Amino acid sequence: MSEDFYSALGVSRDAGEDEIKQAYRKKAAEYHPDVSDDPNADEKFKKVKKAKEVLLDDEKRRMYDQMGHERFAEAEKRGATDADRGAGGMGGMGGAGGMGGMNDIFEQFFGGGGSRSRSGPRQGSDLKTRLRIDLGDAYEGVTKQLTVTRPERCPDCDGAGHPPDADSRTCSACNGQGQRTTVRQTPLGRVQQTETCSQCGGEGTIHSETCSTCRGDGQVRNEATLQVEVPAGIREGQTLRMEREGAPGENGGPNGDLLVEIRIDDHELFERDGDDLRRRHPVSFPQAVFGDTVEVPTLDGTVEMDVPAGTQSGETFRLQGKGMPRLQRRGYGDMYVQVRIVTPEALNEEQREALEAFAEAGGEDIDVEQGFFEKLKQSF
Ligand SMILES: [Zn+2]
Ligand SMILES: [Zn+2]
Repeated sequence: MSEDFYSALGVSRDAGEDEIKQAYRKKAAEYHPDVSDDPNADEKFKKVKKAKEVLLDDEKRRMYDQMGHERFAEAEKRGATDADRGAGGMGGMGGAGGMGGMNDIFEQFFGGGGSRSRSGPRQGSDLKTRLRIDLGDAYEGVTKQLTVTRPERCPDCDGAGHPPDADSRTCSACNGQGQRTTVRQTPLGRVQQTETCSQCGGEGTIHSETCSTCRGDGQVRNEATLQVEVPAGIREGQTLRMEREGAPGENGGPNGDLLVEIRIDDHELFERDGDDLRRRHPVSFPQAVFGDTVEVPTLDGTVEMDVPAGTQSGETFRLQGKGMPRLQRRGYGDMYVQVRIVTPEALNEEQREALEAFAEAGGEDIDVEQGFFEKLKQSF
């Protein structure tokens, strides 16, 4: 049995964050492979680094305390302590979008979990993955197929980790209790601490055979294809919770959930700003001078927009209700169309003459009236 993380760092089991960090710095300096003469320095350095990582992560520390060193190490090997890897190696998650009051389907990540009893039914861990959609999907809402590789209850032993007919005996390390209690004398009195038995993994029973399919884990990794309902109006970074589609529970506990973070591809015609859309729309110089009706694309077909006579380049017009649907509410945001006057790059003879005549008719310089710059500023 290898040394546990607390003794690797030389801290007590109730050590706080600062104590752990301090202990780590001391040990890391001692075992750093560049400075240490110890032949096992490399291994020891990795060990204290690992110990610090686990003990400073509240969720992992809780798991570690519950499972004990050996079981935690095993669980980590198959990715069960790290929900990101559990969901098919899709990489780390960014921050989730903040959403109030929609707890049933949206939830920010607070590490998941919740309180678990030690040897009773235990809920499986939540898994995380990502789903990429385009802006049109976000506008209309969409049902997408999502394939994830995730741990599932082993079908051959039904999660037990051993064949149903395997001989079993009571674990001698814990007398079948599944946990071991230690009592320490401290200046504040007796402190009792209960840990999951590392010999039997908390089951209280040792079996003569392990399941060959799952090697005793009770879990296998399988690819699953799921249907995800993405609601209209969803925003970049928001998370959908698929209940009971996460890692299997233990001892008859329910599965965890699968959290699907939504990523939305940029659109070539529109920029999203909350529930509003923004677009730059080109008009010609004569259109801006004389006014015109132009066709503007939206996510729901083309609409007509009036460009009034005398429109300046950069002026913005609002198309009410032509933005994104408001998630779980009525109505739509707006579309803001910023008009850009396009200067022609090549002119034919007739155009050149007309423009020269235009310039002559108005004098050499463009006559900028008072207030023009004010108006221009407001339009940005
Ligand atoms: Zn099995
Ligand atoms: Zn035991």
